[in-house]
Amino acid sequence: AFLRIFMILVLSCIPGRTNLCSNPSDIRSSLDSLDLEGYISFDDVHNASKDFGNRYQLPPLAILHPKSVSDISTVMRHILHLGSTSNLTVAARGHGHSLQGQALAHQGVVINMESLPSLDIKIYKGKQPYVDVSGGELWINILRETLKHGLSPKSWTDYLHLTVGGTLSNAGISGQAFKHGPQISNVYQLEIVTGKGEVMTCSEKQNPELFHSVLGGLGQFGIITRARISLGPAPHMVKWIRVLYSDFSKFSRDQEHLISKKKGFDFVEGFVTINRADLLNNWRSSFTPNDSTEASQFKSDGKTLYCLEVVKYFNKEEANSMNQETKKLLSELSYIPSTLFSSVVPYLEFLDRVHLGEIKLRAKGLWEVPHPWLNLLVPKSRIFEFATEVFNNILTSNNNGPIIIYPVNQSKWNKHTSLITPNEDIFYLVAFLPSAVLQNDLEYLLRQNQRVLSFCAEANIGVKQYLPHYETQREWRSHFGDRWEAFAKRKHAYDPLAILAPGHRIFQKAA
Ligand code: FAD
Repeated sequence: AFLRIFMILVLSCIPGRTNLCSNPSDIRSSLDSLDLEGYISFDDVHNASKDFGNRYQLPPLAILHPKSVSDISTVMRHILHLGSTSNLTVAARGHGHSLQGQALAHQGVVINMESLPSLDIKIYKGKQPYVDVSGGELWINILRETLKHGLSPKSWTDYLHLTVGGTLSNAGISGQAFKHGPQISNVYQLEIVTGKGEVMTCSEKQNPELFHSVLGGLGQFGIITRARISLGPAPHMVKWIRVLYSDFSKFSRDQEHLISKKKGFDFVEGFVTINRADLLNNWRSSFTPNDSTEASQFKSDGKTLYCLEVVKYFNKEEANSMNQETKKLLSELSYIPSTLFSSVVPYLEFLDRVHLGEIKLRAKGLWEVPHPWLNLLVPKSRIFEFATEVFNNILTSNNNGPIIIYPVNQSKWNKHTSLITPNEDIFYLVAFLPSAVLQNDLEYLLRQNQRVLSFCAEANIGVKQYLPHYETQREWRSHFGDRWEAFAKRKHAYDPLAILAPGHRIFQKAA
C-alpha cells in the first residue's frame, strides 16, 4: 500500500504531467490504498451530505469510518502530503446536528466520529472525579454510564444526542452554565489529531495553546479523539418548575437574581411565547398547577409571555428540605402567582427531555425538515432594548418553534478558549429554534432572522452569534474582532493547509 501511495505522489509531481492527484479517481485510489484498521467508503455519502439544519446538500468524496486514532492521523497525514495537488478537505462529523453545513466537506473526506470505538468509557472516582470518553461519544451514553456510579457531568446542552467533539467545538451551553460554565469549561484534558496529523495530548498545563484553541474552536485546529470530562455527584430526582411573566423587566430581573445566588436553583432557563393562547393546555399532561382553580382562570389571550424555567436537584431523602428551599427561592420572585406549575421527574428524564419531543416529531415526519435556527449572545446592558424590538415588533408569533432565553455569568467561564462572547460578564443566550415545514415558512423565517440581525447591527447591540455562520472571511474577522489575528495564527500553526472543518468557510484550503 505504501508503495502505491508513494508512486502516485511521485508521478503527480513530475513537471508537465497532468496532475494525477487532482483527478478524483486517482485521489480515490490513493485513499483506498491506505492501511487502516477501519475503512474508507465512497458510496454511502448521502447522510454525510446534509445536517440537522437540512438546508445544505454538499456530498463528500469519501467517508472515513475510523477504528483507531491512528486511522485519523494516517488520513490527515496523507492529505497533508498530497498538499495543494488535491482539493481534499476534512470534516469531523459528530452527530451531524449542525445547522448550516459546518460538519460537511464538499468533495472532501468526512470522518464519521461515532465509529471511533467507545468500548471504554473510563470513570475515575476520587476527589475530582472524571470520565475519559471518545470524541465521537454521544452525551446521552456518557450520562447513562456515569449514573451507574452515582456521578454525572455537570454542564449540559438541552439535547443529549450530540457528540462530545461536536459540542466542545462550540461551547455546550444549557441551564447549568451559570453555575458550572459551559461544557468547554468542564474539560480536564483532550487528545487531538491536528491538521498536521500529529496526535497530541493537551490540557491547561500540557500544550495549553492547543487545548484552548480547540475548545470552542469550531473544529479548525484538530480533531478531538478523546476528552476527559469533569464529573460531580448525580442527583436522583429534579423538581422542575415553570412560572409566567407578562413583564419582560420583571422576568429578566428575576433570572439575573437567580443566577447570582450561591445557593439557588441548579438550572435556570426561560422561554418566550408570542401569540399562543393554548400555552397552559400544552403543559397539562406533565406539569401540575400549584392551584388548579387559579390556574384555570389565567388567560394568556395571545399576549407575549415570558416563562421562567427552573430546576432543583435532590435525592429522595432530601425531598422535604428541597421543598422548603424551593418555596423560599420562589418567594423572592415576581411571577404571575396563578401560573406556578411544577413536576418531579428522574434526573435522566429531565436531562433527556428534548429527545421525547424528537420522538413525537419524527413520528409526524416533522424532525427532518429545514431548521433556520439563529442563536445570539446578547449583552445584559442591551437585553431590554433587544427584547422590546424583537419580541414585540419583529416577531408576530412563535408558532414555528421555541424561543429560549436565559442569562449566564461568564466571570466563571474559562476565558482562554476560542469561544467568542459579548464583552460583558452577564449576557443572554437567545435561541430562535423554528422548523420550516413549508417552503414559504423557510423563506419567511430566514427573512425574520435577517431582520433580527439587521436590527442588532443598526442599533449596535453588541451581539455575538453562537454556533456562528458567515459567508465571508470579512464577516468572520468582524465576529472575532481583536481576537482574529490570534485565531488565524493558531490556524496556521495547527492546520497550515486549512484542511479541517471547511464547512464554516473561515479559511480556504491553500491552492
Ligand atoms: P456536528 O454537527 O457533527 O459537528 C459540529 C462541528 O464540530 C463541525 O464543525 C465538525 O466538523 C466539528 N466536530 C465534530 N466532531 C468533532 C471532533 N471530534 N473534533 C473536532 N471537531 C469536531 N448547543 C448548545 O450549546 N446548547 C444546547 O442546548 C443545544 N441544543 C441543541 C438541540 C438540538 C436539537 C440540536 C440539533 C442542536 C443543539 N445544540 C445545542 C447545538 C449543538 O451543540 C451543535 O450543533 C453541535 O455541534 C452538534 O453536535 P454534533 O455532534 O452533531 O456535531
